[in-house]
Amino acid sequence: MVSCTGSQFCGFALAETKNRAMALMEKLEQQLELPRNVRVHFTGCPNSCGQAQVGDIGLIGAPAKKDGKATEGFRILLGGRIGENPELAKEFEKGVPASDLEDKLRGILISEFGAKLKAT
Ligand code: SF4
Repeated sequence: MVSCTGSQFCGFALAETKNRAMALMEKLEQQLELPRNVRVHFTGCPNSCGQAQVGDIGLIGAPAKKDGKATEGFRILLGGRIGENPELAKEFEKGVPASDLEDKLRGILISEFGAKLKAT
């Protein structure tokens, strides 16, 4: 996981990133078995200091709405590749409320990256 500094220390940020990213990744690692490492890049605004476009999953801080009210959110990009055949990630979904990210990322990891829920 990579994250820019986000709203904790950056005036450009449209979303909190680092602490949110760490908490989310810890939760998802507890819930899921993954067949391979997945590179998740969080960045708080389109300046993309966290290089969202090269992540398997990239998250870019963006406005969102939940229950009709403005809230912190993210655009989600998928499919960024580095190495011999590099590719920029493509937009998967816009305007995802930050509070929905755990469910959304769990679903993406299962449907797109072969993750399985751990037995409880
Ligand atoms: S991507 Fe945006 S929010 Fe993150 S450190 Fe860079 S300028 Fe700040």
